[in-house]
Amino acid sequence: MTKEHEQSERLTQDVLYPAHADRTESAEFRKNKRLLVKQLDVPCWICGSRENREVHHLFEWSLFPALDTDKMLDTLHAFDPYGYTHKMGDQPIETPDDIRNLLVLCGHHEVGGVPVPGGHHRGVNLGVHEITLPIWLSLRAVKPGVEITRAIGHAQNEDKKLRSTNQS
Ligand SMILES: [Zn+2]
Repeated sequence: MTKEHEQSERLTQDVLYPAHADRTESAEFRKNKRLLVKQLDVPCWICGSRENREVHHLFEWSLFPALDTDKMLDTLHAFDPYGYTHKMGDQPIETPDDIRNLLVLCGHHEVGGVPVPGGHHRGVNLGVHEITLPIWLSLRAVKPGVEITRAIGHAQNEDKKLRSTNQS
């Protein structure tokens, strides 16, 4: 049996983004965000919180011009958290802001009273943009009271750094 242990890894990824339009919040995105967050009141997919909700693109927005939309659709049939892909059948995907490509996540999370800015979307050691898929997915199923990443430690260190900068 292996004892509980901590393993720290630094991940480097080199991504080749295709030429893409300037990032703006499209009318389609605003409409879908309003539907998911305001009308349907969908919580964070990881923790169920309704704090500072943000809407995540499953397939990266800026990679869209490099993606085969049939293969996107095929994948979204396998990962269909709100049932829209099933409901819409084979209707082609024309924009990364399509509701089938969106997932609601918290943009702020607290662990034991310690705030982790960015939450399950962008938070260090917590967010889908910050950790690998197997670890992030495990956060959704973690047992109560168990911590599997150092999200708090990081947030506390950042807090200390800020305080010491403010004092000097
Ligand atoms: Zn969350």
